[in-house]
Amino acid sequence: MMSGFSRSSAAGLLAGAALLTVAACGSGSAETAPAAGGKPEVVAAIYPLQWLTEQVGGSDTQVTGLTAPGVEPHDLELGIQQVTDLKNAALTVYIKGVQPAVDDAVDADKSFDAATAVTTLPAGEHAEEEGEEHGHEEVSYDPHLWLDPSRLATVATKLGERLATADPAHAQGYKDRAAKTAATLGTLDQELAKGLTTCKTKTLVTAHEAFGYLAERYKLKQVGITLDPETEPSPTRISEVAKLAKAEGVTTIFTESLVSPKVAEVLASQVGAKTAVLDPLETKPAGDYLSAMRDNLKTLQTALGCTA
Ligand SMILES: [Zn+2]
Repeated sequence: MMSGFSRSSAAGLLAGAALLTVAACGSGSAETAPAAGGKPEVVAAIYPLQWLTEQVGGSDTQVTGLTAPGVEPHDLELGIQQVTDLKNAALTVYIKGVQPAVDDAVDADKSFDAATAVTTLPAGEHAEEEGEEHGHEEVSYDPHLWLDPSRLATVATKLGERLATADPAHAQGYKDRAAKTAATLGTLDQELAKGLTTCKTKTLVTAHEAFGYLAERYKLKQVGITLDPETEPSPTRISEVAKLAKAEGVTTIFTESLVSPKVAEVLASQVGAKTAVLDPLETKPAGDYLSAMRDNLKTLQTALGCTA
């Protein structure tokens, strides 16, 4: 059993210390028993990277997600087992700036930072007014790059190269699967581009400012109520956004599953708008990355009044 393994069973494995790991290049960890088939263990810090690593790694790697389903990833704290897991992993796939705890714990020589694979966008414009404790302030760029499938396709290609270097015996498999994954993401990108071409409004009012890459790619304009899902926006910020939403003809305020809909509902009633769930994919969706992005497309088309 490989990629079929859900995050809850991954968490179960982490909790019972039965997780076997092996270093990719057969380096010094002699006391670690080899995992079944001697597959390199790859730790993926957040769901979209876990999905991507499973696609690219295929049956050649054992992928473990670090953030359990339903957990808001930005404020992840690492338990002893997770720290051990990071230490033993042949490779950790992460995005610097999403999770400060992970940024501090990763080994530079055995990690792949997806933010280095793509052109990043600057952090949200009200970043400086927001809480200091939030992960996003650790870096000057917006870390939510997985919400642009074309950038994620580039990450897939570079991850394939990285895995091929870490596990040269299976290099061709990694490269082939990376190419296939990049092509799949390219198709998704085209669907989004086509579906969001002709819309009544192009303004997205979101609960937390996670959709900057999606907005940039498909020529939408994101107005985030907060940068940080944990921070309550100030009344000033709410009335500022309400004014803007009215001016732009916004009919829907987007909320997300891990964030309380309260603020979005207050705002929606001020504007006379509805609320709808737009998934930033910071935790595992009901389906997978592709189906959740297609659901997001449908939600956006309805909310923005797109004809395609
Ligand atoms: Zn976020």
